[in-house]
Amino acid sequence: MSLDHAFGALSAQAVLHAWEQAQGLPPQQRALALLQMAWPDVAPQRWGTLPLGARDARLFTLFEALFGPALETLVDCPACGEALELSLHTADVRPELRPDDEVAEQPRLQCDGYELDYRLPGSDDLIAVQQAAGDAGAAVRQLIGRCVLHARQAGQPIAPQALPPAVVERLQQDMAQRDPGADIRIALSCPACGHGFERRFDIGDYLWQELEDWAERTLAEVHALACAYGWSEPVVLSLSAMRRRRYIAMVQQSAVPA
Ligand SMILES: [Zn+2]
Repeated sequence: MSLDHAFGALSAQAVLHAWEQAQGLPPQQRALALLQMAWPDVAPQRWGTLPLGARDARLFTLFEALFGPALETLVDCPACGEALELSLHTADVRPELRPDDEVAEQPRLQCDGYELDYRLPGSDDLIAVQQAAGDAGAAVRQLIGRCVLHARQAGQPIAPQALPPAVVERLQQDMAQRDPGADIRIALSCPACGHGFERRFDIGDYLWQELEDWAERTLAEVHALACAYGWSEPVVLSLSAMRRRRYIAMVQQSAVPA
C-alpha cells in the first residue's frame, strides 16, 4: 500500500465525516475506520489483518498528517499522584513503518520439540477475542488458536489448543519481539517523588481524543461563520483552517463595541 496516495482526499469535510461515522465504535473498530478514511484505496479487510505494530505505524502517520508531530499528554504518578505533563515527539515513540512483504511474513518458532508456523495478531484477532466473554487465559488460548497456522510435535501435526503452557508463553514472547510496535511503553520518572514507572502509549486512543477536540473546534468555527456570514457548512469547511481563523478573528473584532 503506497503512502503516495494517502490523504489525497483528506479534506476537513472527509475527516469530519469519518469522525461522525466512528462515533460509538469500540476502540479497535474505530482505529480501522480511521485508517480506511485515510487510505480509501486499500481494501478494508486489509487493515484488520495487519499486525498491530504495522497498523499503529499507520495510525502515527495519519496522526502526523492531521496534527503534526507533537504529542502532549498528562500522566498521574502511581506512587504520589502528581500529574506529569508529557511532551513527546512522534519520532520518539512511533514504530518503524516496515515494507509490506516484511509485515506479511509468517514466522516459524521452534521450541521444546515443537514447531509452529504462525502469523502476528491483527485487529480482527483482538476484536474476535474481546467478543468472547471469558478470562484472560481463555482469550490467550483463543488468540493462539487463531494465529497458529500449523503446529507440529516431533514432526506430527497437533492442534494449537494442545500446546503446553511453556510453549504458549514462548510463542507470546516471540510475537512481541517480532512486532515490538504492538505494545509501546514510555519510561517515566516522577519529578516530585523520583518514582520510576512505565506507561503504555496507545496511538489509537490518543488520535481519537485529538480528533474529538478538533471536531468540536471545527464545528464551533462552522457555527460562528454560518451565523456571521450565512455561509453553509460545506463552504466553511472548504476554507483552510488559517482562513477560518482569520475570518473568526474579524467577526470577533467587529463585535467589540467601539
Ligand atoms: Zn511521584
